[in-house]
Amino acid sequence: MKFSVGHGKEGAVERLEKRGVSRRDFMKFCGTVAAVMGMGPAFAPKVAEALTADNRPDVIWLHNAECTGCSESILRTVEPYIDALILDYISLNYHETIMAAAGHAAEKALWDTVNAGNFVAVIEGGVPTAPAGTANEAGAYGKVGGHTMLETTTKVVNAASATITYGTCASYGGVQKAAPNPTAAKGVGELFPGKAFINVPGCPPNPYNLVGTIVHFLTKGMPDLDDVGRPTLFFGETVHDNCPRQEHFDMDEFAPSFGSEEARKGWCLRKLGCRGPETFNNCPKVTFNQYNWPVQSGHPCIGCSQPDFWDGADWDGETYFYADLTDM
Ligand code: SF4
Ligand code: SF4
Repeated sequence: MKFSVGHGKEGAVERLEKRGVSRRDFMKFCGTVAAVMGMGPAFAPKVAEALTADNRPDVIWLHNAECTGCSESILRTVEPYIDALILDYISLNYHETIMAAAGHAAEKALWDTVNAGNFVAVIEGGVPTAPAGTANEAGAYGKVGGHTMLETTTKVVNAASATITYGTCASYGGVQKAAPNPTAAKGVGELFPGKAFINVPGCPPNPYNLVGTIVHFLTKGMPDLDDVGRPTLFFGETVHDNCPRQEHFDMDEFAPSFGSEEARKGWCLRKLGCRGPETFNNCPKVTFNQYNWPVQSGHPCIGCSQPDFWDGADWDGETYFYADLTDM
């Protein structure tokens, strides 16, 4: 097993060095996190300090109804080895898809951490709530270790120092909640009205937004959130605000088709369905794998960090995802 889930806080630096991640790589990563948080390079040592402090909280990572794409967004990253850095440094005690432990040992790791307190919960996936089965049990469409996701999520959220919902499914229900939603899946926040959650949506979300959120929580407490629970540090501007194709939008230069000469020349993708003007996220600034992002590579933004982006209604009563924007 490549990752050290359950190895605790000790020896993270040595484990990373064995894997070829030097102190220099780590500081480079901290500098990028500081930049994503809108802080100068002088904040990088503070990021490093927060991620290596002896009293940093443990992390429990739950998987509910999802495709694991959010975890993949971390596991598939390239230099500077953000997967190893995140998964080793944050003291991850439980992660269903990558931990070596299984069965009772895995369950023990989960509940020992919950019972000890002082942990951050990261939740991936929506929560099925519909009753099913001969016992008509609520949430029976999703179970891990004999417990419904609804039951485990409730216990974990109620014991956590903070809960970060990572990805649009956990934040708002995502595709699991799309009509007709046979499992009555919900975003985590919908289950606990009045409780504060930090939503880091995206489909997939950007790992730097997760690390930046954790670092903010460790160094400065709860970040400022917008009206749908997203940290304004990362979700304060629209995709359109920072899009390199915007000058063509302003000149009414719209690519007529995918792969056209105009699309290749950087013309705006609005009439091909781009939801960048309605979508709050930092994709153009942070990119994925420090290399590219959808609109730059010729695909419209699909609005994945917006609540109900899959089939919610927009201003014309059309769904976000399928709206015809050719006349706009
Ligand atoms: S491609 Fe999308 S985000 Fe970029 S300028 Fe056009 S509408 Fe805005
Ligand atoms: S560009 Fe739009 S669809 Fe793509 S990841 Fe960013 S917010 Fe989601």
